[in-house]
Amino acid sequence: MLKMESVSYSYANSKVEVLKQINFEIFEGDYISIIGKSGSGKSTLLSILGLLNFPESGKYTLFGSEVHNLTKGSIAKLKNRAMGFVFQNFNIINRLSIFDNVCLPLIYSDIPRSKYRERVECALNEVGMLDYIDRYPSQLSGGQLQRVAIARATVNRPAIIFADEPTGNLDSHNSKQIFKLLDELNQRGTTICLITHDESFAQQAKRQWKMSDGKLTTDISSVDGLHAFQVAN
Ligand code: ADP
Ligand code: MG
Repeated sequence: MLKMESVSYSYANSKVEVLKQINFEIFEGDYISIIGKSGSGKSTLLSILGLLNFPESGKYTLFGSEVHNLTKGSIAKLKNRAMGFVFQNFNIINRLSIFDNVCLPLIYSDIPRSKYRERVECALNEVGMLDYIDRYPSQLSGGQLQRVAIARATVNRPAIIFADEPTGNLDSHNSKQIFKLLDELNQRGTTICLITHDESFAQQAKRQWKMSDGKLTTDISSVDGLHAFQVAN
């Protein structure tokens, strides 16, 4: 589904290589966790996976296309329809109602307006937040805001969800609820790529990867043994 071969990356304003020769493949239905120290390159990796940045060298192929061959239009479509994002700071827009926040990705999709309400209700129901549909973000707790952010990430029914430290601002009770939701999503078929500081939650993922100083160490799948063993060198 997603594959990187020898991908390296450095930010334009610095000479330091933030990602060094990254190799892996993500398969449909995977649940991957990535742990690693602050500054090791996890968010940078996710920004390339999510088409916010592009490899400096190496090859990134998603859904059969190499990213360098994609047009701006198809990149925008992939971002909107094939992938959902969840961030540490929720990224919820305060002046919009919960309905409008979750509805945002639909506006850029092919889904007809007449279906918006039904789609938003369904996504909010799945995260246990349907009762809050007409509220405003300032009336919600952090844990509730993150559940709304998950509804927004899933409303277009993307193939893969990228979550970057989704519980970084939450207490342990709310963190457990968020991880439970991600688990349920994966069980319903959504591929998940999760960055987390929390070792115990990272261990719940089917595949556990580690990031250290720009290098990624991947796994053998504990599920079916089909995934190739790879250690980035
Ligand atoms: P992590 O998510 O693992 O904490 P990041 O991917 O955010 O790590 O950062 C990896 C390295 O890249 C760090 O040294 C960080 O300072 C640097 N970095 C991150 N974002 C930028 C940026 N926009 N411009 C320049 N350097 C950056
Ligand atoms: Mg980060």
